[in-house]
Amino acid sequence: MPALRCSAITCVYNKEELCSKGDILVTGDAANMADQTSCGSFQERKGDSMTNSCADGCGCETIQVDCEACRCVYNDDRKCIASQIGIAGSNATSSQQTMCGTFHCK
Ligand code: SF4
Repeated sequence: MPALRCSAITCVYNKEELCSKGDILVTGDAANMADQTSCGSFQERKGDSMTNSCADGCGCETIQVDCEACRCVYNDDRKCIASQIGIAGSNATSSQQTMCGTFHCK
């Protein structure tokens, strides 16, 4: 499983730039460039719930990443096999405003 760093701090699952979701789905089945990918698991944080409490899950260093971006060199049968990846989107309000910055086209 890749080590994941995520700058989408507006996501409900983001814990100090780690992800607490447990697994994510990266989308972009026709992507040729990183900005054509998205984290399909992004959910905008609503209200004032900016908290580091672990009540709703803690951020993990490594995470299972299912990925539809089949043109990426790290994609092996829809699983990400990179040792580490970075999801970008620091001001994202929707999935489309995030991307896998580690995408590298075959
Ligand atoms: S590095 Fe490639 S295979 Fe891994 S999540 Fe990003 S786009 Fe998908």
